[in-house]
Amino acid sequence: MHTFYNGILYIVPTPIGNLSDITHRALEVLKNVNLIAAENIRHTNILLQHFNIKNNLTSMNKDNEKIKSDILIKELQIGKKIALVSNAGTPIINDPGSILIKKCHLYNIKIIPLPGACAAITALSASGITNNRFCYEGFLPTKKTLRCNLLQSLKKETRTIIFYETKHRILESIQDIIEQIDKNRHIVIAREITKKWESIFGATATLMFEWLKKDKYRYKGEMVIIMDGFKKLNTTVFSKKTLDTLLILRNFFSLKQSVSITSKIHNVSKNNLYQYALKNKNDKII
Ligand code: SAM
Repeated sequence: MHTFYNGILYIVPTPIGNLSDITHRALEVLKNVNLIAAENIRHTNILLQHFNIKNNLTSMNKDNEKIKSDILIKELQIGKKIALVSNAGTPIINDPGSILIKKCHLYNIKIIPLPGACAAITALSASGITNNRFCYEGFLPTKKTLRCNLLQSLKKETRTIIFYETKHRILESIQDIIEQIDKNRHIVIAREITKKWESIFGATATLMFEWLKKDKYRYKGEMVIIMDGFKKLNTTVFSKKTLDTLLILRNFFSLKQSVSITSKIHNVSKNNLYQYALKNKNDKII
């Protein structure tokens, strides 16, 4: 038999720059809860003062999250309503709070998440890169070997990939993307979203590196990297003439030789034609 408690934990996203991005509902919750658990009290106080909200605050950050979660669970068990906020954006997303959420599940405490600002999703929406299938990787590892290993493991990931990055490591990370993924992979950097110097720029990894290197103001502030996913083999369609040539040559030469000659005659990519021929071998198209 489960015990249910009256307490509620609200997950409240806060703006990632522009204070007008807070929702009416978020303000109402922040006003009416018994306690606000904030990543940084000073930071959240600035937000509350801006909106004339006075309420009780307690800190919950990555250093005290474990102990603090137990304390907050006790408060929730006696019926308190608590709002969880981080410094910016959606709590939990590369911010503290996941231990508390797990415990709420464990103790059957109601969780109400509010929708709101999140840098990853805001950047994705403006990236121009396919966004129906994406994965979120958070910050790339700071150690080069770990970063390279992770990028290597993502080389064939077909979904769009989202990374958070800092100005201190952005050049190294782009360099590693060039080396471990592909120098021609399309990436977009969304920087300082919703703030004065907001910029969104997309290019191949190599061009991005060159562009950033030219001016340090191009990678100042906070940023999100959106990287295009791995594209499966080029599905080039070849003309009837090209395929007819290949078919005739196949009577006299090996597949490799036929492809090589055909590609020269019709000026098409040898590699693509070879892959196409292999794929369609059993269908007797060629
Ligand atoms: N919980 C936050 C969210 O929902 O986006 C993320 C917190 S994480 C500690 C901070 C990182 O988010 C930054 O280093 C940056 O990569 C990204 N970020 C936050 N605000 C941003 C903004 N205004 N523009 C671009 N990136 C931002």
